[in-house]
Amino acid sequence: MVRTLEAIVGEIKKVKNIIVVGHVMPDGDDVSSVLTLTMALEKIGKNVRGVIDDQIPGYLEEFPFIKDKIKSYDCVSKFPAELIISVDASSPDRIGRVYDHFKFTRSVVIDHHATNTYFGNINWVDKFGAAAQMILRLNKMLEVEYDEDLATANLLGIATDTGFFRYSNTDSTVFEDVAWLVKKGGKIGLISNMILENRPLENLKLYKDFLDVMKLERENTIAYSHITLDMLKKYNIAPKDSPSFVGELRSIKGVEVAVTFTEGEPGLYHVSMRSKEWFDVSKVAVTFGGGGHPRAAGFSKKSDNLAELENETINEIIKLMESYDK
Ligand code: 5GP
Ligand code: MN
Repeated sequence: MVRTLEAIVGEIKKVKNIIVVGHVMPDGDDVSSVLTLTMALEKIGKNVRGVIDDQIPGYLEEFPFIKDKIKSYDCVSKFPAELIISVDASSPDRIGRVYDHFKFTRSVVIDHHATNTYFGNINWVDKFGAAAQMILRLNKMLEVEYDEDLATANLLGIATDTGFFRYSNTDSTVFEDVAWLVKKGGKIGLISNMILENRPLENLKLYKDFLDVMKLERENTIAYSHITLDMLKKYNIAPKDSPSFVGELRSIKGVEVAVTFTEGEPGLYHVSMRSKEWFDVSKVAVTFGGGGHPRAAGFSKKSDNLAELENETINEIIKLMESYDK
């Protein structure tokens, strides 16, 4: 790990103009990693573009500095980048159009997904609970000074990817990093309020409809449901602000695997999977061309028949479950 980290530091020290890119359908860890690395590299005098080639969901957009520091794809087309650093993305398709620039520009991949395809010139892929923990290590090696803004930005990813320190990826390094960042002024209360205590009422109304169409399989160990564009329209929710209820499904007593099918564009579904204790959902995601972690994974798929897509996915899960039974 230290050697790869040193190589990345060497690459950064050599150049001035850097793109930091996150993944499409950004989550808290992703925007935190892009934001933290962008702000840190600026602090040490680099010319940086933090980019995500997708819309930022409303619940993250309001977070300090995100609107200012994370730009859309347009900002990189004429930028004379000498280095691209991809964070929290496991494969090229996850970074959208920014991948086109990998042909001409040196690249570094920093990621914590076991399903990573090593698509950069230098790849640091490690088993951390959050990509934001890896950014913290890189920043420390770059001797970046942390203030409360940088600490808060960095904390966001660690808090969200560990489900606020509840998931099994919450190891001792998480608490050590959090303690360090809180000492630097990181505001954990601000993050919990913005993420957990800020749900639009419409989302809760939608949740009722989502529960109405929920189904259970295999003696109630698999729970799944969907959100279609029509369901979103009923409550005037934009697709980019579509809430994720997959955690709620997993929280049901006896459920091991939870799956949600969310329509993002007409006929295009994002499938989110979570497991509680033993089932490896990343294996199922990879079968369908996606990726992720053993307890949280996903993929996107076009389909003009949602029921068919649901059956296909649930059958694949059942098939894998049966192989555990043997
Ligand atoms: P979510 O269900 O919240 O979208 O994603 C859960 C995990 O799976 C995240 O770590 C995310 O990066 C990963 N993931 C979700 N969708 C995809 C996908 O289409 N491709 C890949 N490679 N990973 C995905
Ligand atoms: Mn992550």
